[in-house]
Amino acid sequence: MSLRIFVLLLLFFIPGRLVPEAHGLELITTRYTTIIYEGKRQLQEYNEKVVFNKPSAFPGKPGMVTAADEAGDMTDAVLEQVEMILDMFPTRIKITIMLLPSRADVQKMYQTLYQKQVDFIAFYAPKEKTMFLSVPDTTIRVLAHEMAHAIIDHYFKVSPPEKIHEVLSQYAESHITD
Ligand SMILES: [Zn+2]
Repeated sequence: MSLRIFVLLLLFFIPGRLVPEAHGLELITTRYTTIIYEGKRQLQEYNEKVVFNKPSAFPGKPGMVTAADEAGDMTDAVLEQVEMILDMFPTRIKITIMLLPSRADVQKMYQTLYQKQVDFIAFYAPKEKTMFLSVPDTTIRVLAHEMAHAIIDHYFKVSPPEKIHEVLSQYAESHITD
């Protein structure tokens, strides 16, 4: 893991101190999310990996859509679609999505947060309301799965058992491309 990502992770635990720009990271604020990423190339890779065939929110302006517009628009559209699949519409949902360069980084994040070794390519941390994604491994199904965890987490006052969380997330994952 690069040092700046590690520093960023530590800053995560100090409310109000998260200033990604100070660490060479960039961010996009969308309706439902804040996406933290390392640069334009990583964002373009994210856009290429997550193919979601919904009509663009920018009709008639294809030439003016930036990678940030595309990523933000697509991410919010996936979230709304997963809400429809689950029939769960939390009143207030705001999550952070951290794009990471590899699954090793995702796994290091998990280990730092939970002191446990896993082979995940992505996960959602409910306490931090943050999704961690290995961009090279991300697909529309991966994003939908983690979105489902985030939506379920926001929808219920008391979070359901882990198994229910997982079954519902798998359901969302398998229906996102319907
Ligand atoms: Zn899961």
